[in-house]
Amino acid sequence: MKIKISNLEEGVHRLFFEGAVEEIGLGEPFFDDYELDVEIDKSARQVVVDATLRLEAKLVCDRCGEEFVHDVEAPFELAFLFGEEPTDDENARALPYDADWIDVGEDLYDYAALALPMRQLCDEACEGLCPKCGVNLNERKCDCRDDEIDPRWSPLLELKKRMENN
Ligand SMILES: [Zn+2]
Ligand SMILES: [Zn+2]
Repeated sequence: MKIKISNLEEGVHRLFFEGAVEEIGLGEPFFDDYELDVEIDKSARQVVVDATLRLEAKLVCDRCGEEFVHDVEAPFELAFLFGEEPTDDENARALPYDADWIDVGEDLYDYAALALPMRQLCDEACEGLCPKCGVNLNERKCDCRDDEIDPRWSPLLELKKRMENN
């Protein structure tokens, strides 16, 4: 996505964009529409972008395997420095003095992906599946009891517990 800056005077400008996620190059797990709030602070030396991207992702719960919709909010800041040499800071970029546009397309993609949770849970309190009969414990209880767990499975369950506690 490109934002025109050559027509902006020095100072702070607020811009708002919205549309289908496909229009900003995003696909699964993102879907439906996005909203992008952008604050641009333009000066003779630089253009500072303070943005928040909001959209939705369809994820699969790590515990129960059900699909759920997760609201994603991805804030990010970038600085475009007029005429400067490229820097090591990936959030500070060089921009020709006569630049008409800044391009934040790749940033939208990167920050949306970064904003996805490491642990994908439909709910923090998700009960998951019964390790014995596989029933979704969020939907109904089963008759299995912990002490009836087949001992052959217990090392696996221990491992699962440890992974969930990480
Ligand atoms: Zn779940
Ligand atoms: Zn069960």
